[in-house]
Amino acid sequence: MRMGAAAVPLFVSCWVGVSAFVPGRSQIVVPALARPCAAVSVLNGAACVPALESLPFGPTKRSLPVEPEPPVPAVPVPAVPAVPVPAVPVPAAPPRPAAPVVPLAPAVPVPAVPPRPPAPAVPPPAPLAPVLPPRPAAPVVPDAPAVPDAPAVPDVPAVPDVPAVPDVPVLPERMLGEIAQGLELTKDWFVEARLQIAAHCIGAATRAAEIAEAHAKSRVQFGRAIREFQAIDFMLADMAVDIMAAKSTLYRVAWEIDAGIDRKSVHARASAVKLLSSEMAGRVLDRALQVLGGRGYMRASPVERLYRDVRVDRIWEGTSEIQRVIIGAQIAKRGIGVYAGWPGQTV
Ligand SMILES: Cc1cc2nc3c(=O)[nH]c(=O)nc-3n(C[C@H](O)[C@H](O)[C@H](O)COP(=O)(O)OP(=O)(O)OC[C@H]3O[C@@H](n4cnc5c(N)ncnc54)[C@H](O)[C@@H]3O)c2cc1C
Repeated sequence: MRMGAAAVPLFVSCWVGVSAFVPGRSQIVVPALARPCAAVSVLNGAACVPALESLPFGPTKRSLPVEPEPPVPAVPVPAVPAVPVPAVPVPAAPPRPAAPVVPLAPAVPVPAVPPRPPAPAVPPPAPLAPVLPPRPAAPVVPDAPAVPDAPAVPDVPAVPDVPAVPDVPVLPERMLGEIAQGLELTKDWFVEARLQIAAHCIGAATRAAEIAEAHAKSRVQFGRAIREFQAIDFMLADMAVDIMAAKSTLYRVAWEIDAGIDRKSVHARASAVKLLSSEMAGRVLDRALQVLGGRGYMRASPVERLYRDVRVDRIWEGTSEIQRVIIGAQIAKRGIGVYAGWPGQTV
């Protein structure tokens, strides 16, 4: 163990401490005690205290009265000879074997890049369009003369009530229908008018479909007749099915009338035929015009005329909405079989 300069103060403090704790005996005890205590103090100075307490010296200074003591002459401290530490031989490390030599990867041949061809000459930009001359200022429009107030319209005289004509005799051969059955007669007329409109719609739709199909076969776009495009083909298919459904329904009701089916059933179904046919004509004419493209929109095209013609068929003789009101009321009153039942079925 090596003792440096720091060990000397600890050694002296232990000496003084023991002299104070053991009065009258310090000169005897200290030389024997100082050496081990000094050696311990180098490691840990606090270890001296338990070593002193364990010695058989009697009570400590804290429990005994302190008596005045003559001054202690300084005792020369002998120098501690240095203990030689034998050198420990360290075996030399064996030489590290040389790392194996890794052969280099074979060189990859890099193809030579051909020289880039020269860029084509860029033609000079086209000359800009000549600058338009400034637009002349619009002529000042004079203020329109004030419109004179319209002359006041005199009140229309009230129409007097039509006087009742009681007890007017009407010959039986001059009467239309039965007495108090005027509304039923009106319904009969509606049946005729609505079936007539349905026939008109089916005829217009059929004609438009024929024109559209003929045009689709002759019109060439992108190197082929547009009839060969599935989009056009599907429109023609939808048109044909629409026409077939409406035409079949119209013929069914016409056959029922010929078969003498009751008037109420005929009236209920005529509304369905009118609604179906007029809405169908709208769809078919729209598709036919689409197949014709811009030509179909021109006044010279018969499809343009038919398109306008069939538009009113969804309005007069009862609009489509009124037909639905009628059909809904018939279903509520007679059941869905009025429309979903078999042909010829009386309801
Ligand atoms: C070219 C042409 C010729 C005509 N010729 C005749 C003729 O010869 N004789 C004749 O009497 N009339 C004729 N009319 C009138 C035709 O019958 C009416 O235009 C039609 O009944 C619709 O009535 P409105 O125009 O008053 O429309 P509105 O009754 O004002 O209807 C306007 C909209 O409201 C909807 N609507 C109205 N009431 C209802 C309801 N209860 N439920 C749901 N929706 C509703 C309609 O469906 C429509 O979409 C003709 C019309 C036209 C365009």
